[in-house]
Amino acid sequence: MSELVDLRSDTLTRPTPAMRAAMADAVVGDDVYGEDPTVRHLEERVAEMLGHEAALFTPTGSMANVLAVRTLVGVGQEILCESRAHIARAELGAHAAYTGLTMRTWTSSDGSIDLPAIRGLYAPDMGPFFVPTAAIAVENTHNFAGGAVLPIEDLQALREYVDSVGVAVHMDGARIWNAHVATGTPLADYGRTADVMAVCLSKGLGAPIGSLVVGAQDAIEESRVWRKRMGGGMRQVGVLAAAGLHALDHHIDRLADDHSHARLIAEAVGVDPASVATNIVVFERPDAARCVAAAGEQGIRLSAVGPTSVRLVTHLDVDRAGAERAARVLASI
Ligand SMILES: *Cc1c(COP(=O)(O)O)cnc(C)c1O
Repeated sequence: MSELVDLRSDTLTRPTPAMRAAMADAVVGDDVYGEDPTVRHLEERVAEMLGHEAALFTPTGSMANVLAVRTLVGVGQEILCESRAHIARAELGAHAAYTGLTMRTWTSSDGSIDLPAIRGLYAPDMGPFFVPTAAIAVENTHNFAGGAVLPIEDLQALREYVDSVGVAVHMDGARIWNAHVATGTPLADYGRTADVMAVCLSKGLGAPIGSLVVGAQDAIEESRVWRKRMGGGMRQVGVLAAAGLHALDHHIDRLADDHSHARLIAEAVGVDPASVATNIVVFERPDAARCVAAAGEQGIRLSAVGPTSVRLVTHLDVDRAGAERAARVLASI
């Protein structure tokens, strides 16, 4: 059997030798005391890239999402999101468990912002009977909708709407870097459409761990307290922040390669490559688990993300030859 091509997720990347060298050389201190210069540098840099005041380093994207959302939504309030959003489907109910919020969803096949649906769902505060809407969450790129990019025009229209009714926007930007590379839209333009964001360094950017909450100074200070409360205060964590800084320097532009590999494999599974915006392809099979098993037998690892939905994700550890091999195998099964 030829070498494994692991397309289950872009979280599978391992730190490169150059990234490991940057980690080994990191200047560190105790970050709970605010004394780790490498973490501070990373937080300042990411905040500036996204056009916000401040940022907070977290171990995971899920924690960044929980911290960000809880700055906007209180106990017994609701957040609206698309029905396949990561915050709704893939965080094990964390927002309900920790924050005490509820969610209602709209559904769009490409994960896009359906403003008429959002207007229909929006509930103003009508006293102690109905759940009031406090925020809208958007996901850019949208994971389970096949890495779809939210057009900046749609985000700006949502911004205008939320400002008119007085609610806030959270952007799950785990893969905002992919959206930026795919469209050329400046990161800060995306950033300006949201009150708070969560971004990941451990997906396509290839860091072993690390995400950030991004937002206004007061939201980040509040998140710093809650991160500690949740047990997420970390000490000489500059060794990990250094991996993130290295990723920002060296692994953003190359995401374009992942996108072209995804289009190449898409064609082999019968998905129109023009519909693949970034590094994720979601396709339908009558039995997703069987398809995943058949591909696995030939060294191509995929994941089932629903009874009939299969997902593949390209990343730093899959080169052109690997993408071509995956395309050949998948076309034959
Ligand atoms: C991966 C991901 C996250 C965060 O996941 P963690 O595994 O907790 O780091 C959040 N949102 C989206 C859309 C993701 O794909």
